Amino acid sequence: MITSSIVAVDGTAASGKGTLASRIAQHLNFAYLDTGILYRAVGYSVIKNGHKFDTQTAAIDAARELKIENLKNIDLRSEEIGRAASIAASIPLVRKTLIAFQKKFASAPPNEKLGAVLDGRDIGTVICPDADWKIYVDADICVRARRRVKELRERGVDAIYSRILRNMRERDTRDMSRSISPLAPAKDAFVLDTTFLDADSAFAIALDYISS
Ligand code: C5P
Repeated sequence: MITSSIVAVDGTAASGKGTLASRIAQHLNFAYLDTGILYRAVGYSVIKNGHKFDTQTAAIDAARELKIENLKNIDLRSEEIGRAASIAASIPLVRKTLIAFQKKFASAPPNEKLGAVLDGRDIGTVICPDADWKIYVDADICVRARRRVKELRERGVDAIYSRILRNMRERDTRDMSRSISPLAPAKDAFVLDTTFLDADSAFAIALDYISS
């Protein structure tokens, strides 16, 4: 049996982990999965159908019914959906339901790729604890909030720094303190602080780590 090589990239919101992970995947010709999209799709489904999170049923059903091919034309990158994703992601049965897809992607990457890069919050700790490389990306929260504001404005979305910062703090706290798979660096992760790094420098440092 051929086993695939796995790069696990975890970290906080707007730390640069998504850009980094997709560049690594491109460089190594590996398949790439942004696992945040799965949780965002669940959050989106709950909101779109007018459900609330006070009972967990709607989110659990959405996770069970999730079809990746249906996500292509939906913009899931809004702050509102990010918040909903983080609430959905704290529900144990939602996480349990999404585990199998992620593990399968890692062990048998699509398009006959020889490896996979997954980014998220629990890739190095829960989904792929035996990953060949683990990177944990973080940055000062004010820098991350500024990056998110810039990204939203570039997409033509109105963004107020203080509100983005508050949402980000709330999301970090929820992601780090939930009872199941809380966001934390794996013990054997390479920690990359991007506070003072641009995307090219972060990529160069990550490649050094991977090739060392
Ligand atoms: O990475 P992104 O901001 O798209 O993730 C949205 C939310 O999904 C995160 O705030 C987190 O709560 C959740 N998530 C998670 N585990 C993952 C990926 C995302 O809990 N592997």
